[in-house]
Amino acid sequence: MSTSTDRAADLKHRLDRVRHRISAAASASGRSEPALIVVTKYFPASDVAALAALGVRDVGENKAQEAEAKAAELAGNGLRWHFIGQLQTNKAKSVVRYASAVHSVDRPGLVAALGKAMAAENRRRTEAGQPSRAPLDCYLQLDLRSGEDLDPGRGGARPADMLELAAAVAADPSLSLAGLMAVAPLGEDPAAAFARLQELSAELTSRYPGAAGISAGMSQDLEAAVAHGATHLRIGSDVLGPRPAVG
Ligand SMILES: *Cc1c(COP(=O)(O)O)cnc(C)c1O
Repeated sequence: MSTSTDRAADLKHRLDRVRHRISAAASASGRSEPALIVVTKYFPASDVAALAALGVRDVGENKAQEAEAKAAELAGNGLRWHFIGQLQTNKAKSVVRYASAVHSVDRPGLVAALGKAMAAENRRRTEAGQPSRAPLDCYLQLDLRSGEDLDPGRGGARPADMLELAAAVAADPSLSLAGLMAVAPLGEDPAAAFARLQELSAELTSRYPGAAGISAGMSQDLEAAVAHGATHLRIGSDVLGPRPAVG
């Protein structure tokens, strides 16, 4: 890309195409359009700023350090930051400074760390004469793989642990139980996986009616996710282009 104008035009073109796919998928399945979270991981803050100028309000990041730096650089752009990656408990404090949502809540220890971090953040704000922050939207990340070869803690909580995790989030008023998140497992038809997620969501909302969010669908499988009730799509490469080489 020779200039930033070319890059902005490229982003606009790709974003328009993705928005078209989303509306087509929504009308094909008779559903309302989910929210689009543009996943900007590995791309520079200048791209995020260009996306904000194109009307993007929700952005997703999966690495705490990278997200923190970009959110600081772009403070005041009115963006909502969604943390979507594996989160270590020692990063909870930094995440609650800028993120409106965490989509990767997958274990009780992380719920506790986020609650503690929210309390510390609100104390900090009070001391600085600022209002408390809004409750942190928490999506429970579920591992949709079936079988015995699950390595716990990598790709989300086991569905069997969903209600226990939900109860932990619901017990903390600084956290808001927003719903479920999942990534379609490799080597499986995403529609089948998202159908299971939709059933789990029905089970969750029967106890927690407010927790109706379904964060599902990426560049490759957004149509299947829309058809199965996704309320939030997390789209990276189809908007930003191929990810740059790391390093
Ligand atoms: C990178 C990432 C996405 C976006 O994936 P694309 O295939 O680039 O659209 C969505 N969700 C999670 C958890 C991710 O890490």
